[in-house]
Amino acid sequence: MAPITKETDYLVLGGGSGGLGAARMAASKYGVKAMIVENARLGGTCVNVGCVPKKITYNAAALAEAIHDSKTYGFSVQETAPFDWGIFKTKRDAHIKKLNDIYARNLGNDKVDYLHGWGRLLSKNQAEVTLDDGSKVLVNAKKILVAVGGKPTDPPAIPGAELGINSDGFFDIDKKPGKVAIVGAGYIAVEFAGMFNALGTETHLFIRYNTFLRNFDPMIQETVTKEYERLGVNLHKQSQATKVEKAANGKLSVTYRDGEGNETTLHDVDHLIWAIGRTPLTSGIGLEEAGVKLNQKGYIVVDDYQNTNVDNIYALGDVTGQVELTPVAIAAGRRLSHRLFGPPEFKNLSLSYENIPSVVFAHPEVGAIGLTEPQAIEKYGRDNIKIYKSSFTATYYAIMDPEQKGPTSYKLITAGPEEKVVGLHILGQGSGEVLQGFGVAVKMGATKADFDNCVAIHPTSAEELVTMR
Ligand code: NDP
Repeated sequence: MAPITKETDYLVLGGGSGGLGAARMAASKYGVKAMIVENARLGGTCVNVGCVPKKITYNAAALAEAIHDSKTYGFSVQETAPFDWGIFKTKRDAHIKKLNDIYARNLGNDKVDYLHGWGRLLSKNQAEVTLDDGSKVLVNAKKILVAVGGKPTDPPAIPGAELGINSDGFFDIDKKPGKVAIVGAGYIAVEFAGMFNALGTETHLFIRYNTFLRNFDPMIQETVTKEYERLGVNLHKQSQATKVEKAANGKLSVTYRDGEGNETTLHDVDHLIWAIGRTPLTSGIGLEEAGVKLNQKGYIVVDDYQNTNVDNIYALGDVTGQVELTPVAIAAGRRLSHRLFGPPEFKNLSLSYENIPSVVFAHPEVGAIGLTEPQAIEKYGRDNIKIYKSSFTATYYAIMDPEQKGPTSYKLITAGPEEKVVGLHILGQGSGEVLQGFGVAVKMGATKADFDNCVAIHPTSAEELVTMR
């Protein structure tokens, strides 16, 4: 059967955060005839197997911690409050399904065409979409946006690696594991390890060096790594998994090599989770046919305006390997639509990738914006920066025994005689919520004096950021 042909002004490959943001802005604000192609569930990684279900799981972990802490505040609670992972998962899945439906409805409301299928570029103005029933649709498009995201990086080639799961599989776990092994040292590994541990699973985290979150400021790396050990996460430093086997009882045996070269096997592991980064989803979507250039790491090359090397083909979000965060993709997508379809004053609109705040939902939460101390030294020279640090006990822990107290540490990095704040690094309860407001200040170019001019809110942890000496 010959494929049917459709015409659109703006074809968007990928129904994740970036693609949806771009298509909906183009259609709702400027009346553009836009079309989204997605082969999985609407909402992309963030909604389905990322930020949203993760944060809900993080909330469950925070509740477990609060139940534990509540004894100090005089509550009589069972030390091992039962947690029904199955009930929790059913509710979490239902919420995600609701979001998928809302996203589909929103596309309808904004009059964005939606094809559920696999899109592949044929040229710079044409794509072929294979629908779920195998039929094909040819789409002629004036402009094309590639926002197809990424996937968990494949595990290293060691025997039995495929017995492990990745961050997608984490969200399929339907009962509380007794023991998990996680490999990786970034956002995902650290968030998963903290949540499992708080929810009462024996947690083993395998990292290649002595600290995790190594892209963060040293204060964060060192303090949070130490805190995980204090909280009972079994941290295997300088270690690498070398072999995975399935035992007769269905559990996994994970063999790993430590820094001294000794090999040890961890038995009875319910899940091994590879969390060693993400890989752009660039294969099978016709980038070669359309002539779209990739860089050495396999990401689509874009300029400051999300233009690829091919006229009328744009790309954004995780597939470009810029800052791989949902709000970044949304912001880039909306700005691109304003630029492409909006009034002349938006013709130079683009997203600045500088000073983007980000939070790791670790235990405790971590927040950062701007330069780390080593980056600031490199950029400005040690003599031209000033560091303010504060480590203290948050009021939440005031009446707790020393071994119950979690850390709170803040660092401000200023540059030049005007003491512009060029880096802000925080860890402690509530850091995720604290950072957003301070992010505005840093983005506006606030100086240390501006921070100090804002009267403190007492008693909070955040007040330390405006009272540092
Ligand atoms: P990251 O890039 O953050 O971290 C992966 C880390 O794993 C590497 O930095 C490396 O650390 C380690 N690693 C790499 N290869 C191996 C290996 N073969 N064996 C052992 N360790 C290895 O990736 P994630 O998968 O954690 O997250 C992907 C992205 O998703 C993040 O960068 C972030 O942008 C986004 N994200 C954001 C979240 C948030 O905003 N809260 C939450 C989750 C994800 P080292 O060099 O130290 O070994």
